[in-house]
Amino acid sequence: MQNKKTIVIIGGGVAGLSAGIYAEQNGFHAVILEKNPSVGGMCTGWFRRNFYLDGCIHWLTGTKEGTLLNEMWKNLDAFRSQEDILLLPSWGTYEYQGQSVTMWCDLDRAEKEWIAVSPVDKKMIRKFFKMVKDFIKVELPLDLPLSMIPLSRKLKLGLQVFSVWPSYLNTMFQTSAQFAKKFKSPGIRFALTKAQTGYGNLFSMIYSYATVAMGDGGVPKGGSKPMVERMKDKFIALGGSLRLNANVTSIFKEHGVAKGAKLVDDTIIKGDYVISCLDINYTIKKLLLNQYPLPSFEKRFNNPKRHPSPSCVMVHFAIKKDNNLPTPYSFDCPPFELGGETIEHLTIRSYSYDESFTRGSRTVLFIMLDQSNLNYPYWQALSKNRSAYLAKKKEIAEQVKTRIKAHLPHVGELELLDVSTPHTFKRYVNSTNGVFMSYTFTKRDSMYTHNGTLKGLKNFYLSGQWLQGPGGLPIAMTQGEFAIQRICKKERLNYIFTPILNKKKA
Ligand SMILES: Cc1cc2nc3c(=O)[nH]c(=O)nc-3n(C[C@H](O)[C@H](O)[C@H](O)COP(=O)(O)OP(=O)(O)OC[C@H]3O[C@@H](n4cnc5c(N)ncnc54)[C@H](O)[C@@H]3O)c2cc1C
Repeated sequence: MQNKKTIVIIGGGVAGLSAGIYAEQNGFHAVILEKNPSVGGMCTGWFRRNFYLDGCIHWLTGTKEGTLLNEMWKNLDAFRSQEDILLLPSWGTYEYQGQSVTMWCDLDRAEKEWIAVSPVDKKMIRKFFKMVKDFIKVELPLDLPLSMIPLSRKLKLGLQVFSVWPSYLNTMFQTSAQFAKKFKSPGIRFALTKAQTGYGNLFSMIYSYATVAMGDGGVPKGGSKPMVERMKDKFIALGGSLRLNANVTSIFKEHGVAKGAKLVDDTIIKGDYVISCLDINYTIKKLLLNQYPLPSFEKRFNNPKRHPSPSCVMVHFAIKKDNNLPTPYSFDCPPFELGGETIEHLTIRSYSYDESFTRGSRTVLFIMLDQSNLNYPYWQALSKNRSAYLAKKKEIAEQVKTRIKAHLPHVGELELLDVSTPHTFKRYVNSTNGVFMSYTFTKRDSMYTHNGTLKGLKNFYLSGQWLQGPGGLPIAMTQGEFAIQRICKKERLNYIFTPILNKKKA
């Protein structure tokens, strides 16, 4: 460890673990400070009544062999080989008033089935699937910060995008809901607005479907928690130091230079560089006492209506294992109120496809109810009254249970395992407004990225999913890597990664 410079990393989520591993691989010593008793942040899972409940991954970009992200996940031991990945046959089945369509990964099959369901929409269906197929051809250069992408790769990307330009133009400036209105079929309209949120832009939804359809959006066997535990093991094996239950209260700095982090017990952990991998608003306002404001984020944060971020209520049940239950599966249901939102559909996910979730003949059923940053004031107020908060959780579980039983009587007994709310995210990872991803691409707010530095504070870097919309695991992971690339650049060091990736980049 002698002569190595130390990087203090705040937060042991996916971004922090990624930064830690890349720091060690590039000749630094990394210390991760994580406030919780285990790593992973929002990428996590937990146990109830002996069932493993997953709280995160529904699809992970980067599961296709040969892609840059795939190499990066493997370098981090998120998964070690393709054997560790499960590919589901579809991106969901959507049923509205009895009419059902499936977003099969086999796009020709899906297109044919959709046309059979709604022949009158044939032209629009063809157009939709052409766009999905077009986006399969484009691989975004996610392994490098925008400013470090060499001209040759920018040109290559430019050519890829140019070859599918009409699809880009068509999707960037309309929402999925606007596009859905061009279809006559209520089932198709429902699918196009529920696969991802209807107010999100069409590009984002189609690109995501393309990712899953090409096999690049699988799930790691065993779920989220085992994945982050493997990353933790890799970090420690490389020589990294991990401090759990280490709640950071401020950034330690002297004369405009970040020199470490102060913990809740006033201990100072010193280093040559500091990377904060937390919620960006929490870092700026709490850890840095708003001394280095970021107007571009402040603008978004202060206008949640214009800049929505997703949140949810999660309900987990145990059910009898059933491989015939489509997953994920969305259907309309009698409406009920939740946090000021009207819920009119349920999206359920049965884990029958992964043996790790099975206990005897039973498995886990997961339901995700849409919320957003706009609903947080409701959850914040409710959480102050513990008995009312617990009663609300019970009530939600009952609302969901009744609707599933009515729609799917054959699933049998639903045994409640857990209910988590936006307040859970806030409590567990300090996420502002209880959201789980950064800002959604909308018609008015598309991709953004930030270089992670703050004017006036040297040797300090921001990282994590907030630095690039719309967030999610691949962004968290690459932003962790970017922070190390930036430090290497500052130290005039050659950034090292794996030989395979370097060959690909050439
Ligand atoms: C229900 C759900 C489903 C999701 N599904 C998917 C999916 O299918 N695909 C996908 O790509 N993404 C998905 N996501 C999003 C994904 O989980 C996040 O984008 C990602 O985990 C963010 O990682 P991060 O490291 O940037 O932040 P975080 O996970 O928030 O990590 C921040 C870490 O910092 C720690 N911390 C906070 N404050 C302090 C402090 N003061 N001191 C020390 N440590 C601190 C936290 O405990 C946490 O460990 C989902 C999330 C949820 C909740």
